[in-house]
Amino acid sequence: MDSLKITKPVVFGVIGGALIIGVAIFLVSDREEEEEFLVDVTPPIEIPVEEPVETASEVIGSSVLGREIEVYRFQPGEEKHVVFVGGIHGGYEWNTVLLAYEFIDYLDDNPDFIPEGVSVSIIPSANPDGVEMVVGQTGRFSPVDVPPIEETTSGRFNANGVDLNRNFDCNWAPESTWRGEVVSAGEEAFSEPEARVIRDFVENSKPDAVIFWHSAAGAVFGSECNDGILPNTLGIMNAYADASGYPAVPSFDFYEITGDVEGWLASIGIASITVELTTHNDLEWDKNLAGARAVLTYFVGVK
Ligand SMILES: [Zn+2]
Repeated sequence: MDSLKITKPVVFGVIGGALIIGVAIFLVSDREEEEEFLVDVTPPIEIPVEEPVETASEVIGSSVLGREIEVYRFQPGEEKHVVFVGGIHGGYEWNTVLLAYEFIDYLDDNPDFIPEGVSVSIIPSANPDGVEMVVGQTGRFSPVDVPPIEETTSGRFNANGVDLNRNFDCNWAPESTWRGEVVSAGEEAFSEPEARVIRDFVENSKPDAVIFWHSAAGAVFGSECNDGILPNTLGIMNAYADASGYPAVPSFDFYEITGDVEGWLASIGIASITVELTTHNDLEWDKNLAGARAVLTYFVGVK
């Protein structure tokens, strides 16, 4: 009995060890065979993968509610620099956000569209909280997801209820107007993070011109801040208007506006126009593509 007590585990141990080694050898050899099999039979064919062309975006700040504000750059570092901005009036003018994204995609696919010597930056959605209020999302979205825009101010303001296009430092006042209505212009010029994002981007990159897409007054407006319209503002206003078919309006006289971004740009010597689409739900793509092209071409050779 004693010898059995000793021998049994030894025997089982030996058998067990042999089994483990056997299985291990089997697995290793099987894997080797498999690898050989794969190497032998699978030809080294490279399947061409079409890389989606996508311009890198850069986050340049965020909204009151922390949503990112991005810029897309094309041909950076050229002598002239033109900036396009969509959606400063948020979801109320969501078509300008989609127009900006459409323009980004178009430039990705058609890099030759931009003349040599000109850089383009696009800020597609300058008031993402306002877009979220109407569309329920930000970034690229489908127009079919957007409820019809009634004649309301819904989504026009930022999350603090401020009209961002009254929050800049040109004749700023705490209250301003939009059509017949009084609107908040913030606690001081640049009190709103979205306005500071544009200010800082402009001050850092010193563009030659900034074009703002709005809707839906159907015209191209010049800009000024007390000192008259800049020659290049007049130049790009006429170029955009002639190419797009929107009428040119050198100065906005329908009601008094204070603290608008275009006026602030004029005050620091940067040309700026407001392009108002004619509806709230159409990109008016061909018109605006022609207008954008005319502005970029305008800057070729301009000193
Ligand atoms: Zn607007």
